[in-house]
Amino acid sequence: MVLRLTALVLILAGVVVACSSPATPTGTPARPTASIAPSSGTSSPGSTPTETATPSPSPDTTPTPTPTPKPTSPPTPTPPASSGALPTCAYKDVLTTHRAYADWAVTLVDTIYRLPSTYVPSDLVNTSKAGLTSGFYVRGLVIDDLTTMAADARAAGARLAVESAFRSYKTQIGTFDYWVNLAGYEAALLASARPGHSEHQLGTSIDFKSYGGSAPWNSDDWGTTAAGAWMATNAWKYGWVMSYPPDSSPALTCYKYEPWHFRYVGRETAAAMHDSGQPPRQWLWEHGAI
Ligand SMILES: [Zn+2]
Repeated sequence: MVLRLTALVLILAGVVVACSSPATPTGTPARPTASIAPSSGTSSPGSTPTETATPSPSPDTTPTPTPTPKPTSPPTPTPPASSGALPTCAYKDVLTTHRAYADWAVTLVDTIYRLPSTYVPSDLVNTSKAGLTSGFYVRGLVIDDLTTMAADARAAGARLAVESAFRSYKTQIGTFDYWVNLAGYEAALLASARPGHSEHQLGTSIDFKSYGGSAPWNSDDWGTTAAGAWMATNAWKYGWVMSYPPDSSPALTCYKYEPWHFRYVGRETAAAMHDSGQPPRQWLWEHGAI
């Protein structure tokens, strides 16, 4: 009996201790960690929760967010824009990237980028083949569109002639020196290209003038003559673009406005350049010419 009683007392004491535990929460603040248990409580008993609770949430959350952003960042392979912003005008001697003869439409030639001195297309033909002034040379690939453009200009009362076309590296030495002697080095830089930096070396550029007229740069603004105005409006339709247009020269083109200087880039590219409203130098830069 005594034993039973003591047993009872012990049991009761245990109950009291158990019941008093909630009253002592202040003493067991460590338990609150059990609040994490609810989440894992679903999966397992009351003792293991603390262990499973901590590992499972962290691996779950960390992997999911990180892997997702990572795959989304590669789409930034818009590195065509790796070319960055159009460089401000400067005078350097960097070989241009696309300088094969087949790259004629996208070869960037400006005051920074140049052609090799040995660049001489092998398919040069006389501009007389296009019904224009004899004695100047352009690449054969421009002849068809040049012929049509010259004929249409003439029919529109804006007959064209050629002032200058292909110029070799060596010829350009003399051309640039001519302008230096005439106007001084600083002024020459804005009006003429240093050897290797001229689009005329491509064999796809022409300085036009009015038929029977003098050099176009002798006019106040050749772009306002019949031939000049016709070219400004229509040349792009035939694949020819004005390299140094009035609104962006010299700020973006690095040369003074030249209403007579046109470069052949083909009809498709010329239309794209025209639609963009950008000067060729900027358009080429933004389309990965370097
Ligand atoms: Zn020119």
